Amino acid sequence: ETTQSNVLRRENIKVAIRVRPTLPFEQHKKEVVYYPQFQEGVLETIKIEDGLHLIESKYDKVFRQNSYQTEVFEFVRESIEGILSGYNATIFAYGQTGSGKTYTMFGPHWEDQNLGYQNTMGPYNGSNFHQDQQKFGLIPNAIEHVFENLEILQQSGEQSYTAYCSFMQIYNEKLFDLFQEKDQQKPLVIREDKYSGIFVEGQSEYVVRNAQECFILLRRGEKNRFTRQTKGNIHSSRSHTIFQLLIESNEPDHNGKILRGKLNLCDLAGSEKIGKEENMDSQHLLELKTINLSLSSLGKVISALAQGKKSQHIPYRDSKLTRLLQDSLGGNTITTLIAAVSPLVDCAEETISTLKFADRAK
Ligand code: ADP
Ligand code: MG
Repeated sequence: ETTQSNVLRRENIKVAIRVRPTLPFEQHKKEVVYYPQFQEGVLETIKIEDGLHLIESKYDKVFRQNSYQTEVFEFVRESIEGILSGYNATIFAYGQTGSGKTYTMFGPHWEDQNLGYQNTMGPYNGSNFHQDQQKFGLIPNAIEHVFENLEILQQSGEQSYTAYCSFMQIYNEKLFDLFQEKDQQKPLVIREDKYSGIFVEGQSEYVVRNAQECFILLRRGEKNRFTRQTKGNIHSSRSHTIFQLLIESNEPDHNGKILRGKLNLCDLAGSEKIGKEENMDSQHLLELKTINLSLSSLGKVISALAQGKKSQHIPYRDSKLTRLLQDSLGGNTITTLIAAVSPLVDCAEETISTLKFADRAK
């Protein structure tokens, strides 16, 4: 009946598809036809037809257009709660630029004037949390939920908890600390030792006492992401961002042993193939190449895990992302892949490649 046993009984890799709605300026464009089919309540099938392709795959969940942010949160809630009892949870948003990854992980862009967030602390102003919860993405929802639970646990008992937060980005296979200002970020080195496992040398890690402190840090880091204006998105992310929340708990009945549960929330760089955009300079081309390489390495690791291979055969060292998350992929971890897709016919090719990537993860 505890969260712990529920988590253990669950499969370790969960895959969901999220189809974003057509945006106001896209109304004249043609939509792909989706034929979602329900099977046994949990597994769902999605079919796409655009005259050329037809794909049919099973996923744990298909979020349709107009799905609420809270529905997506519900899908991962149990895995997130696991970090309070020493389990790890890793959640990826995967998909082409403009498919809704950042919306899913963070929420609508905090600079978006239409949302009425100007002159506030942005979307993560603690006072408006419950009123605006539908707008918030997984990261703010997870933060709020974890600290709500921590407060209850702290009040009820003997157990004591410490929460640590860090925020990083991987750009061109280099790892940077998002708590450093954009022009001061220097590449950091991933190391490993017997006591700490995988760790990043020189990375800032803040002790956070409540959700509000965490939101302030989140906002600070978000501003330091590397983005580029592209055809698909004016805030297209050229880096993977990884938000981490580590919970350490001291359980008296564990002879003073410290339990560690880590939550990794990753907004991946766009998965689009090279060759879509004209006038690409060499820097942009390099970005796309490294992004594709690291995403394909992530795909290999996830499908190796999905096939239940032993840890020594899993190619964690092939990319910075999988190396960084080595402790949090497989083993004691629930991994969730949320594949974001656009509803437009123009994007069907990328949508199909995203659906195939997600399919290999199962
Ligand atoms: P990505 O991060 O994958 O490049 P974004 O998350 O920035 O894409 O989404 C692109 C645009 O679509 C943004 O304007 C965003 O607000 C909007 N959008 C994405 N998903 C949704 C959704 N589920 N509901 C409403 N708008 C969305
Ligand atoms: Mg984005």
